[in-house]
Amino acid sequence: MLKDKEQTIIEVQQLKKSFGDDVVLKDISETVKAGQVICVIGPSGAGKSTFLRCLNVLEEPTSGKVLFEGSDLTGIKEEELNRLRQKMGMVFQSFNLFPNLTVLDNLQLAPLKVRRLSADQAQKQAHKLLTQVGLADKSAEYPASLSGGQQQRVAIARALAMDPEVMLFDEPTSALDPEMVGEVLKVMRDLAHSGMTMVVVTHEMGFAKEVADQIWFMADGYIQEKGKPEDFFAHPKTERAQDFLSKILS
Ligand code: ADP
Ligand code: MG
Repeated sequence: MLKDKEQTIIEVQQLKKSFGDDVVLKDISETVKAGQVICVIGPSGAGKSTFLRCLNVLEEPTSGKVLFEGSDLTGIKEEELNRLRQKMGMVFQSFNLFPNLTVLDNLQLAPLKVRRLSADQAQKQAHKLLTQVGLADKSAEYPASLSGGQQQRVAIARALAMDPEVMLFDEPTSALDPEMVGEVLKVMRDLAHSGMTMVVVTHEMGFAKEVADQIWFMADGYIQEKGKPEDFFAHPKTERAQDFLSKILS
């Protein structure tokens, strides 16, 4: 995972996304470099999820480009898109585990089918990843028998099992009971420290302050302001960001 820090992983150019007459993303041009952790914050309805889904083209942008390691993901064939998309792990608010599969099989399925790992390789990797997320003893369980925090850690491990170049998180702790938030953030913090490139939509300001290289503040379909967390949180420049922070930090 050690990469040239100047390598661009994701670049969006003049990204726009509309749903009918509703222009949700207005004009976004940004770059994510190798090893960077970007935390995207902003009010509900700002377009954060839509933006994240455009990065791996789960939503097709209305116009503009999304380059992943130099390849434009817009307007390419489904097969090629799927191949590139595998390199972008995604974790959602809802864990979306396969309920009829054990934890181990959840982690092995895609590596066996898509990456064509051998059964032995897939199993070794699954156990390694479960250890990494603190769930080595849960491999034989079914998702329904795990807590929300445990399920989300399995979901992270499952995304990592595809050996991604970048991990995209959309409010991964928002659906969790408060006492389970910390265990998921710890896994994400460890991942960030291991050098993983990450784009994280979150309301966890403590995490964003501590782990982000950059905060992107999003409102009304634009990235209104971005900066290092110590600058952004202490001295937000735009009125929009000042207003947002005063509401959430009060
Ligand atoms: P956030 O994640 O910041 O809360 P979203 O990206 O979910 O914001 O939504 C931004 C806006 O886009 C909202 O007004 C939402 O209703 C609209 N939107 C999102 N997805 C769709 C969709 N599939 N169809 C129509 N409108 C959508
Ligand atoms: Mg959202």
